[in-house]
Amino acid sequence: MSDRIEPGGTIGIFGGGQLGRMLAEAARDMGYRTHVYCPEDNCPASQAADRHTAAPYDDPAALGAFAGTIDGATCEFENVPAAALETVGAAVPIRPDAEALSIGQDRAREKEFFERLGAETAPWRPVHRIEDLKRAVGEIGLPSILKTSRLGYDGKGQARIDSSGGAAAAWEAIGGRRLPEGAMRPFAIVERFVEFTCEISVIAARGLDGDIRCFEPVRNVHRNHILYTTTAPAGVPEAVAHAATGIAARAADALDLVGLLAVEMFVTGDGRVLVNEMAPRPHNSGHWTIDACETSQYRQLVRAVCGLPLGDPARRHDAVMTNILGEDMHLVPGYEADPEARLYMYGKAEARPGRKMGHVTRLTAKT
Ligand code: AMP
Repeated sequence: MSDRIEPGGTIGIFGGGQLGRMLAEAARDMGYRTHVYCPEDNCPASQAADRHTAAPYDDPAALGAFAGTIDGATCEFENVPAAALETVGAAVPIRPDAEALSIGQDRAREKEFFERLGAETAPWRPVHRIEDLKRAVGEIGLPSILKTSRLGYDGKGQARIDSSGGAAAAWEAIGGRRLPEGAMRPFAIVERFVEFTCEISVIAARGLDGDIRCFEPVRNVHRNHILYTTTAPAGVPEAVAHAATGIAARAADALDLVGLLAVEMFVTGDGRVLVNEMAPRPHNSGHWTIDACETSQYRQLVRAVCGLPLGDPARRHDAVMTNILGEDMHLVPGYEADPEARLYMYGKAEARPGRKMGHVTRLTAKT
């Protein structure tokens, strides 16, 4: 099993969304083939990949056959079941590895990881049962947010608690239940609501040789918990940018990660940087890098996965990326007619509210 994957080789991609689509496009441009594994037919990534296996993540025969066709694998979303990673990982390297992915799958483990790293997070407590929640809310204060430990995204599996009487309703809203006796991990976490001045993210890349390159911090605005715009540069004080970049780089190093690590953070009025969450994969807040950076996040991931030297992540332009959600589809003709708008559509047949259908990036001169 050679560490390096040469052009002409095949990269396996777990997950079929737009991140996988843009990754497959970058891989093709760099001379690699891709094979997407996801349960859905005709997914955005499969439209751009050389091959597609549409099978459940718990199908050992399909996973084994997939592993037989690829030289290495990566994930475009972090919730690939551990057993699937184990099956494929026995045959080819998975970059980032199962350990980084398993931390990224679990909010409590993420918080513990960043605390060990010496990075600040919002005050939080694990919640195994409703009694824990009531006690925790008393300890960390209000308002606070209850979040399922696993399988939450874009605000799903979250409930805000504004009064001490609200704990039971929040527990019910997220489908709160006590996990079977012996389950060590909590069902949820509760964290203090952060009165942030802005949200930022940093995407760090770490190569097979341990080299780390970070894209500069960007400013993210969410609408209904879903990323709406990303602005580069973030326009935060130099000390904040430095602290945020340092956190992402140290995290990638501590995980011994090969690939990308996106870290989302809150910035407070007094200049503190609090980690919200991490994702060991390409990130929505990195789409702008396709048009504005020397090396895009997708090309950087191909480089890391294939054991190539990392590229230069330097920003060449200022950029604003706007997500096009299902409810924004009426804006697309305007973007199509706008010579300044770099439009990307993801090939999704059905436009549902909140569903990411595409994005548009606008560039201006570098400040
Ligand atoms: P998450 O799924 O944790 O990324 O949350 C989605 C979005 O909800 C974040 O990007 C924030 O805008 C908001 N949010 C989540 N947790 C908090 C918090 N503790 N304080 C304030 N806003 C939060």
